[in-house]
Amino acid sequence: MTKKRIIGLYPGSFDPTTNGHLDIAQRAHKICDQLHIAVVANPSKNVLFSVEERVKLLKKTTRHLRNIQVSSFDGLLVNYARQIKANMIFRGLRAVADFEYEFQMALINRNLYPEIEVVFLVPNEKFIFLSSSSIKEVAKLGGDVRGFVPPVVEKALRRVYEP
Ligand code: ADP
Repeated sequence: MTKKRIIGLYPGSFDPTTNGHLDIAQRAHKICDQLHIAVVANPSKNVLFSVEERVKLLKKTTRHLRNIQVSSFDGLLVNYARQIKANMIFRGLRAVADFEYEFQMALINRNLYPEIEVVFLVPNEKFIFLSSSSIKEVAKLGGDVRGFVPPVVEKALRRVYEP
């Protein structure tokens, strides 16, 4: 029996990309034959960066990885998964706080698209406390975000907060 090719989909707001996102992307990349990182164009939360900017930053920070494609989508995640023929969705789990929402969404998505598997990955513990919103808060208040985000993202944040 030949093994099915794994086409992964790692969705998120990525506003902006953090080292925690990149840690998960690298882990997912090792599992998949092809990985799509997809930026949610209009998430329910307010975003700082445009969808084009979020895609650009992700592309720049993942271009050393082969078989990764960065795109954006709007609407239902499972519709996009079907469109690109993804058979695995990746999400990162930081703390228990992420679990309830992620668990609920995973079951909903599997009901809508029974062929899909939802896989949760745990980052290196040094990224457990990292979120895009906390990074934006620190950058806004003039704090140093190097070590939390890749250099291109740090520059992008500086352009926003230190005009
Ligand atoms: P969303 O709005 O879809 O949660 P995010 O950009 O906040 O988008 O996160 C995208 C995915 O990356 C989610 O699965 C989230 O749990 C995961 N993630 C974000 N930050 C980290 C981190 N520091 N460590 C591990 N996973 C993370």
